[in-house]
Amino acid sequence: MQQRRSVLSVFTLTLAVVLGAALLTNLGRTAAEPASDAEFTGSGRVVIRDAAMVLTMDSKLGEGPLGALADADVVMEGNKIKEVGKDLDARGARVVDARGKIVLPGFVDMHNHLWQSLIRGCAADKELVGWLGKCVIPLYGAPVTDADAYAGTKLSAADVVSTGITTVTDWSHAFNIDFAKGGLRALAESKLRFVYSYNGTTNAALQDEIRRVKREVIDPNPLAHLQVGTHPSTGNFPSLEASEKLARELGVSLNVHLLESKADLTEGQMDALRRANALHSGLVANHVIQTTDADLDELARAGVSVAHNPLSNMRLASGVIRLPEMKKRGMKVGLGLDGGTNDTSDMFNVMRAAVGLQRATTTDPAVYPATADVLRMATLGGAEALGLDREIGSLTPGKKADLQVIDAQSVNFAPKVDWVNQLVFNTQPANVSWVFVDGRALKRDGRVAGIDTAKVVADAQLAADHLKKLLPQ
Ligand SMILES: [Zn+2]
Repeated sequence: MQQRRSVLSVFTLTLAVVLGAALLTNLGRTAAEPASDAEFTGSGRVVIRDAAMVLTMDSKLGEGPLGALADADVVMEGNKIKEVGKDLDARGARVVDARGKIVLPGFVDMHNHLWQSLIRGCAADKELVGWLGKCVIPLYGAPVTDADAYAGTKLSAADVVSTGITTVTDWSHAFNIDFAKGGLRALAESKLRFVYSYNGTTNAALQDEIRRVKREVIDPNPLAHLQVGTHPSTGNFPSLEASEKLARELGVSLNVHLLESKADLTEGQMDALRRANALHSGLVANHVIQTTDADLDELARAGVSVAHNPLSNMRLASGVIRLPEMKKRGMKVGLGLDGGTNDTSDMFNVMRAAVGLQRATTTDPAVYPATADVLRMATLGGAEALGLDREIGSLTPGKKADLQVIDAQSVNFAPKVDWVNQLVFNTQPANVSWVFVDGRALKRDGRVAGIDTAKVVADAQLAADHLKKLLPQ
C-alpha cells in the first residue's frame, strides 16, 4: 500500500511537472522567453521589449541628434525594422526582454582585413612599411590557400559579431583566386552584412574572376556588396587605372589606403588618383592621415569617404587623423578596425581611441569628436560613408533590422550616470547581449550563435602556423 501510494504520488508529480512545463512553454510564446535559436532567423515578428534606452540615430524618432528614447520597444518584422516607440502592440511577436538594456543600430566596420586574425601580434615593433614587409607582402605569390582564408575569416567574423558589428568591410588582399574564395565562403556563412573589397589588377583573367564573383556570389546574396580595392601610387598606376575602370563598369566603389603614413608621401598618391579620374564620391579612402589643407579641400570637394582606424594608426605609429578639419569640410567619415594592425575586434575601444587621440594631441576636451559624434560615426556615419545609409545605420522603420542590445547592468558599466558617455568609455564586447543582422540573431544572451568556437580556434591555429612558415622569421 505504502509502495502503491508512492507510485501514485510520483505519477501525480510527473503529471504536474509535464502540465506545468506545457503551461510555461505556452505562456512563453505569448509573453516572454523565446524557445530556441530557430525562432530568431529573420522571419516573423520580434519585439525588443522595454529597453531602458533606444538610440535610434534618427532625430525624427527621438530626442537629440542620436534620436534617444527612454523605456521603448523596437519591433522587427522579417528582416526589417517595423516600428520604434513606447508600449507598442506586438501581439504574437517573439520577445527579447531588454529591461535595463540599451538598443542601438549595429556597428558598421568601414575597414578590415578579416584574414589578418592569422597574423595577430605580428611585428609589434614596426611601423607600416616594416609591418607590411614582415607580415603581409611575403604572402603575395606564396602558397596561401582557400582553407587559410576561410579559417582566418571565420575567426574574425565571430569576433566582429561579438563587438556588435553588423556590417563589415573586408579589404581582401586576395593573394590568389582560391584565397578570395575561402574568405567569401566564410563571410557568406557568417550571415553578417558585408562589403567585399576584391583587389583589382591589370590581369584580364583576374578581372573576369572579379566579374564572376559579382555575378554569382555577391549579387544573389542580399547581405553582400562588392568594391574594388587597389593601391594608389605612381608605381602602381596601371593597376590603379584598371581597378578604377573595373569599379565603374561594375557600378561599385573603389577602396584604397591613402596617406596612411609618412612613407606614402613619396608615392604620389593624390596625383595618381587624379590621373586615374578616381577622385569622386565613389572612392572610399582608408586612414587619410598625412594630409595638407589642400589635400583635404580636394578630397572634400570630390566627396571622397574616409575610414578612420585609430587603433591601427596607434599601433603602426602612423600619425593622427585630422578629424576636426574633416568635420569642418563636411566629409563623410566612418570607423574601422583594420585587421591585424588592430589585433582584436573591439568597436568600443575604437570609439574611445577616436575621441582620445584628438584630445591628447590638442589638450582640448571639447575638440571634435565628442562621445555622441563617435557613436554616430560608428553607425550611421559608416553607413553614409559606404553609401548604404538608405538600408542601414539607424533604427528608422523600413531599414534593415541590424541592431545590438547592450547590457547596462554589468560591473564595468553600471550605475546609470550618462549612458551616451558610458557607451563610449565603459563598454566592452562582453556587454553586447544580442546582435541582429537582417532580423537574424547572430549573438544571443551574450553568446555568438551557430559557431563551434573550439573548432574555429583550432582551424585558425593550423592556418596561422601555415602562414608563419611562409613569413620571414
Ligand atoms: Zn587596411
